[in-house]
Amino acid sequence: MSLKTVIIKPAKDKSIKRFHPWIFSGAIKSTDPSCKDGDLVEVFSNKGKYLGTGQYQEGSISVRIFEFKQQPINESYWKSKLLKAIDLRKKIGFNDSKETNIYRLVHAEGDDLPGLIIDYYNGTAVIQCHSIGMWLIKGVIADLLKEILPDIKAIYDKSAETLPKKHVEEHQIENQFLYGENNADFEGREYGNDFSINWVTGQKTGFFIDQRENRKLLGELSKDKKILNTFCYSGGFSIYALNNGAKEVDSVDSSKKAIELLNKNIQLLKNYKNNHNSIVADAMDYIKNVDADYDIIILDPPAFAKHMNARHKAIQGYKRLNSRAIEQIKPGGIIFTFSCSQVISKELFRNTILAAGINAGRKIKILHQLHQPADHPVNIFHPESEYLKGLVIQVD
Ligand code: SAH
Repeated sequence: MSLKTVIIKPAKDKSIKRFHPWIFSGAIKSTDPSCKDGDLVEVFSNKGKYLGTGQYQEGSISVRIFEFKQQPINESYWKSKLLKAIDLRKKIGFNDSKETNIYRLVHAEGDDLPGLIIDYYNGTAVIQCHSIGMWLIKGVIADLLKEILPDIKAIYDKSAETLPKKHVEEHQIENQFLYGENNADFEGREYGNDFSINWVTGQKTGFFIDQRENRKLLGELSKDKKILNTFCYSGGFSIYALNNGAKEVDSVDSSKKAIELLNKNIQLLKNYKNNHNSIVADAMDYIKNVDADYDIIILDPPAFAKHMNARHKAIQGYKRLNSRAIEQIKPGGIIFTFSCSQVISKELFRNTILAAGINAGRKIKILHQLHQPADHPVNIFHPESEYLKGLVIQVD
């Protein structure tokens, strides 16, 4: 079966030749008139040269390319892509680790599968599609996961939260189990730390898996420290701190539901010394008014900017938040500060922290530069896939 075609304007094919997977609407000369959202398309240059195969979706990014070699796209093609992603996870140690049984199995552009996220919770795969093309083949993906993964118990599609609203309405998309029973009350492990996770009621796929290595580093610095964990969600950083001998931990999130999850995780602690406080509050308001005696402060806000046009405002937000924390921290104290905004580059984030330091009038040293872990690989041709960046700084 021949696929529908998209033709690129002259001189607009350079980024595709450099394996960038997104085609913006402005680069397109013509599209097959019968082309609908989610269709598979082959992309050609103005001179008729094949450039790639992708999924079409009207909008600023009109085609997401997942393949740069012309070939049939069928079930065995998708199988080879999934096997590649799974093989990478095995290579980096996530096969049958007893200490960590939660990891990302497919990371969209990072695994050459734009629009598709799959997180793996010890036998349950949680799928979040960010493009309708991926959602339309979710049945194929689910069948392949059942075939490939020997210990799969359930597959949950949580795409109603990540797809554009118009597609959710048009296809009446609801989050649902594609396989297995509702098993959403789950206990998982990360570096030996136990977490209660619920993919149906929790944020994202249930847990912020991308902070695993950074939580581990925090754990290593926590002994006897007084720690403030802001934007704590279910307390990922707090649990590591408490398991590693922190003196006291205060955790703040504006979501009551997040704090309830955190309280459940506190109950799972083996050696709890009653040295933790759960606080429902706005993080910025909270930091403004705290005593300046924290040894470590964690700032892990949600993405302040999801699009380029929100970038400037987001930078101001990061600057204000970080200035406050830098002003408040004890002399010699340490701040773990993050941005998960795709449109804020590593350099821009670092400059924002520099500006926050100037604002606060305190000297800063960078101890660590943090990023997303290897199960969230960065496609080097798609710098946008490096979305998580962080700095560990010491304030004089
Ligand atoms: N560090 C966490 C993930 C943080 S996600 C982990 O390791 O799991 C960001 C969190 O910020 C969400 O839980 C969200 O509820 C919370 N949040 C959003 N706006 C907030 C605000 N103004 N003040 C406090 N928390 C906020």
